[in-house]
Amino acid sequence: MEAQINQNHQVKKDRAPLVCQPFWFPPSEVDFGYREHSPTGPENWGRLDPAWATCSAGREQSPVHIRTDGRRARRDLPALPALNFSSYAPSPAVLFSDGHALTVDVVAGAGSLWVDGREYELRHFHFHSPSEHVIDGVRPPLEMHMVHESLDGDVDVDGGTTARLAVIGVPFKDGPPSPFLDEFWREVPRLALVGAGVALDIGLLVVDAPHLRLGPDYARYRGSLTTPPCTQDVLWTVSLDHWNTISPDQIRAFRQILPEPSARPTQKLHGRHVYLHAATESSP
Ligand SMILES: [Zn+2]
Repeated sequence: MEAQINQNHQVKKDRAPLVCQPFWFPPSEVDFGYREHSPTGPENWGRLDPAWATCSAGREQSPVHIRTDGRRARRDLPALPALNFSSYAPSPAVLFSDGHALTVDVVAGAGSLWVDGREYELRHFHFHSPSEHVIDGVRPPLEMHMVHESLDGDVDVDGGTTARLAVIGVPFKDGPPSPFLDEFWREVPRLALVGAGVALDIGLLVVDAPHLRLGPDYARYRGSLTTPPCTQDVLWTVSLDHWNTISPDQIRAFRQILPEPSARPTQKLHGRHVYLHAATESSP
């Protein structure tokens, strides 16, 4: 997940866009990077700003390495349903880059997701490259984060902890072009012309379930924002389906905007469980 847009960037919107960071975090004057062993690299985020201390001290950090072989995952959650995206609706959307991630911001009412009996409303989605979550040792070239916020504010989940956000991570493997990305990827080259922090109106966009092809296989765990301030306020759902792919041309377009890697290294589980939901015989 990505931080709020830098104050130096001007976005042509009525309000500051949400990237991976919700609006209730004030923007920091400090910037961060992804290059390991650099002064602003991921291992130093917790020291760059006192408000970012959780990046170093937190014990429920994201992303993580998801192992589906059963050694670290648990498959004992039969109550978890297949993800249902039927409630998503066309929404006016804007596309922008803040120099850390490529983001599509949608308006309220664009759709919502029910997790554990709670409704979380879609706020925006954005992309990291390569993927942040590693699945069985593999890090695909792209990961989409769909950031949803609880309509109830902080809610109790899993033993009294809270999760204000529910984020769905969708990895994209190398392969044919994604029809979902095609809906707005054609606008990505224009971002190279307008510069970081400027939002492009991309018209109506809907999270199209058939195009996005989210199926029944996913992992669930408690974690954090993957960028400063690394707040541990996220109920993560990571798709384990292998259907979404990104073509070399689509990756090249992304690299024009964000040539450097934008993925945080995986974090220790510190005793957390990663739960798996697998397909049943009635699932596709
Ligand atoms: Zn993200």
